[in-house]
Amino acid sequence: MLAAETIRAQGIDVLAFFFETPFFGPERAQQSASAMDLAFKVVNITRRHLEVVRHPRSGYGSAMNPCVDCHALMFRIAGEMLDSVGAAFVFTGEVLGQRPMSQNRGSLNRIARESGLRDLLVRPLSAKLLLPTLPEEKGWIQREELLDFQGRSRRPQMELANRLNISDYPSPGGGCLLTEKGFSRRLKDLLTARADVETRELELLKSGRHFRIGPHTKLVVGRNKLENEIIQTLAGEQDILLKSVSAPGPTALLSGESSGDLINMAAAITAAYSDTAGQDVSDVRDVSIRQGARDIRVLSAPVHDKAEFKALMI
Ligand code: SF4
Repeated sequence: MLAAETIRAQGIDVLAFFFETPFFGPERAQQSASAMDLAFKVVNITRRHLEVVRHPRSGYGSAMNPCVDCHALMFRIAGEMLDSVGAAFVFTGEVLGQRPMSQNRGSLNRIARESGLRDLLVRPLSAKLLLPTLPEEKGWIQREELLDFQGRSRRPQMELANRLNISDYPSPGGGCLLTEKGFSRRLKDLLTARADVETRELELLKSGRHFRIGPHTKLVVGRNKLENEIIQTLAGEQDILLKSVSAPGPTALLSGESSGDLINMAAAITAAYSDTAGQDVSDVRDVSIRQGARDIRVLSAPVHDKAEFKALMI
């Protein structure tokens, strides 16, 4: 928001891009763009981004977040779109030293190089501390009106926001699931087990408890009504849906290889998470097994303590 205002203040038309994947969505950025009356375009980059998540040349941050390569990819794609949107250069809100790994001087230079943009990439908030870019040298933008922010403190940004009357801005650092340890564990498990993943499988990582019950078999168990519905919606044609029918309980989704033993184990886990509150605890639960639109059968599964399955949880 601050970088956009800084460039727009020089009389330059600005188009904001949001690069969307299952790991981060555009809702908050859309609100910010609307509040600023800024032209806004969402570009889905899931496929290309997933390659970067699988094989980050510059490594990961604290979880599965490949921030340096992620920035470079986004700016590369922005660069590829320059002609089609009639733009002359790309700028970003990066601040020198704000993030120890992805925004140190070396990383900013590497990102400019690896994105292919090189001196067409402007960082207005720290421009006075960086080498002049082509838009500055050509006089398309005035370097002296750009800024010299650096370091981890966000105080200068907050003061600038105050001066620009921007009060409603996103909290720093939030919003990317790749920075979350639990989500990253589930993602790593999925990418290790599957050479080619579908977007719905990535979406599924956001809901439920996940169990790896075989090298090629996974079970996802809903934790509430909403998650049960999401799990049902995201089931693939070959996936098996399990549901406790003799007591209230979760919907569970079995994906991958599904031999009899694995289905029995999935039914036992589903039964273990079914409701026993206020009822006589019986030692079996009937669990319905459904594949695609077909009801397969109802299994009687023994009820175990949930703790017995903890070691399988991803
Ligand atoms: S936090 Fe997420 S979206 Fe942001 S640069 Fe890192 S990987 Fe990309």
